[in-house]
Amino acid sequence: MNRSLAGLKFVSSSFALAASFLALVTAGAAAIVPVPEKVAAAVPDRQDAQVPDRVHLFGWIGQRVQANESNRLVKLDSARLLEGFRKRPGRQSWDGEHVGKWLHAATLAWVNTGDPTLREKLDYVAAELVKCQLEDGYLGTYVESNRWRSWDVWAHKYNLIGLITYVRYTGNTAPLAACRRMADLLCNTFGEEPGKRDIITAGPQVGMAPTSVLEPMMLLYRLTGETRYLDFCKYILRAWEQPNGPKIISTLLTSKRVDKIANGKAYEMLSCLNGALEYYRTTGDSQVFQACLNAWQDIVDHRLYLTGAASYWEIFHDDYDLPNVNNVGETCVTVTWIQFNAQLLRLTGEARFADQLEHVILNQLLGAQKCDGSAWGYYVQMEGRKPYTSNLDGQCCLSSGPRGVALIPTFALTTDAEGVIVNLYDAGTATLTLRNHSAVALTTETQYPGDGLVRITLEPADVKAFAVKLRVPGWCRSAEVRVNGKRFKGRPNTAGYLAIERVWKKGDQISLRLKLEPRLITGDHGNHGKVAVLYGPLVLAADEALLGSGDPAQKGNATVVPLNAIAAAGPRLAMLKVTPEPAPAAVKTWPGAQVFRTKAVTRRPVGSLKMGTPLTIRLIPFADAGGTGTRYKVWLPLPSNLYSGNLLLEGLESRSRRGNLNGSIVDEDFETAVTTWDGKTAEEDWFAVQLDEPITVKRVLFAHGKTFHDGGWFDASGGKPRVQVQRAKDGTWETVAELKDYPATTAKDPAEMDGGESVNCTLPEPLKVWGIRVAGKPACGDNPQQAYSSCAELQAFSE
Ligand SMILES: [Zn+2]
Repeated sequence: MNRSLAGLKFVSSSFALAASFLALVTAGAAAIVPVPEKVAAAVPDRQDAQVPDRVHLFGWIGQRVQANESNRLVKLDSARLLEGFRKRPGRQSWDGEHVGKWLHAATLAWVNTGDPTLREKLDYVAAELVKCQLEDGYLGTYVESNRWRSWDVWAHKYNLIGLITYVRYTGNTAPLAACRRMADLLCNTFGEEPGKRDIITAGPQVGMAPTSVLEPMMLLYRLTGETRYLDFCKYILRAWEQPNGPKIISTLLTSKRVDKIANGKAYEMLSCLNGALEYYRTTGDSQVFQACLNAWQDIVDHRLYLTGAASYWEIFHDDYDLPNVNNVGETCVTVTWIQFNAQLLRLTGEARFADQLEHVILNQLLGAQKCDGSAWGYYVQMEGRKPYTSNLDGQCCLSSGPRGVALIPTFALTTDAEGVIVNLYDAGTATLTLRNHSAVALTTETQYPGDGLVRITLEPADVKAFAVKLRVPGWCRSAEVRVNGKRFKGRPNTAGYLAIERVWKKGDQISLRLKLEPRLITGDHGNHGKVAVLYGPLVLAADEALLGSGDPAQKGNATVVPLNAIAAAGPRLAMLKVTPEPAPAAVKTWPGAQVFRTKAVTRRPVGSLKMGTPLTIRLIPFADAGGTGTRYKVWLPLPSNLYSGNLLLEGLESRSRRGNLNGSIVDEDFETAVTTWDGKTAEEDWFAVQLDEPITVKRVLFAHGKTFHDGGWFDASGGKPRVQVQRAKDGTWETVAELKDYPATTAKDPAEMDGGESVNCTLPEPLKVWGIRVAGKPACGDNPQQAYSSCAELQAFSE
């Protein structure tokens, strides 16, 4: 232990948690051995997931892991977790999921920290939850007459996951009987035999919600050896392919696209796929495995955001259809994506899955967790504000986020048939047992990702030959490895790891130097005309917190330049001169925190600054962006020579109905549009832009969006569309003019309008306003059952 403590000085003397934690470890309980499974896996793991008491992280990631335990999991109110079970029904239809998700995360966190307060809470919640089980085994939150219609198989799934995790790691097998009774109830209720219910109809998302119980049913089968649980899982796989089923496996084997599965709902689908991988592990069904690999490839190639997020409006959409805002990046999806990659890493031992894990954890997952661990964001988008909350009500993601963080020590460092694998680089210690039962301790000293140097000191119990496999991240163009100071030359093996095979003895040291450098990503599809900056593994963002007048980087800029007036200095990396420097105190979340000085220009005139005025701004890692409640933005526009004077540029846009296009009316792009389509009729539609400060407007420009056979334009037969303004912040809308040049359209005739046409309207006099909107009657085209309109741009000018 002395060596480990010495090493930690390098990490941060200020990180008191590490020291207090080590005291706990030194006082030392024996290593936890999970309750063994009765059924061996048909497919042995290539990499061994670690019991979290073997791996302790103290760097940036470690600080977030620790905060997850001490500021979130241990502080949750047990009565809130249990209330829906104690007094059915719960406060909302899927409220029953939280307790199982908490039990899963909190058990892993307790194994990692050994915190006796958390253990006490775990024992209490597990015992109290079991007390709520009804005579027939039911442990949902519904009253009897409402059972099995919406989210109660789902709640049983999480109760099983939580209690099985608790049983295996604490060794307290008392709740296992309750798990069996829940599983027996499911087996007796659902199936193909006469008198049994169809599980596909037992819950939402084309049956993907209820059938995701596959995962814990496989775990329970392996734990108990009860073959009826395996039979139930086989039934679920058949049910997926029923005429009314989601056809998960067949779709993935034929179209190889996740957006073509059922309704595309990402969280429930990935939950099913995590179950499918447990099924594959247990049975060796190679078709199921191929389907999962196809899903992974499709998501990586077509459906991932730059930060590792997936889905908007909680659904997988068409290839590269990834708007920056629109309920982007549900945290439940982020966490199930992490679980999916962690499963694939165990099963295949391939570094490409660990690459995805590093990327999604260091960016999207830590970006969804409030830096102090106390709160989480539901949708964590590419720009906007982080919607942090600590209140569980209506927030599935609030109990998912902590699961993702608590899982990190299970795959950060692992073992395999040849030795030890380092998947994530973070300061810390690991006490691993090789498959030949010999022990090896590793101490990692690093400020990664604030610094590219990683030093790992080994302490094998005996002098032994084994491999240490290092993951050289896919983004890294240059990595140098030394063993005891001597250069090691090697190439990554077929699994993607750099394997150092030799006889190791106590005190041997590996130093890995990963070259951290900036990268510029040129936007395509929806981000055409924009760029994003990465540094090493980190996605960077502009943040209002670093744009204030007090920011030394802005010295010499007399005017505070707001976020929406910032453009990247140019389309080439060299023009941006990205340079890391220590983070200023206000945004310094850990000792190695950095910000990144970057050249920018004003995108429009700001005060006395002309458009195109050079600026120096500082970017911040996405994980820390918006941490103080400020607005942030990943994709930065490139400077345009064509700034039109539009005062509504990047204002807050809204419309009367959500519609089905993901364009923008404030991006100066006449190709991107929004609609109000929702399959229904409406008397009036409107498209609005509101601002943080008043503007003086003389002219308004409305650009038509797109024309479809069944609508998309305003019906002007009863009057032209109207221009309305708000004279006070969030005030009432007042009509001030008509778009008198809008064509003479009717409900069925778009009057030759095709898309992108502009209609200008000069106001009778200049007006000082906080918001502008255009309202009119939507057209129905050839389908009078519905009507809608569309808009490509809404702009306003001072002259
Ligand atoms: Zn969620």
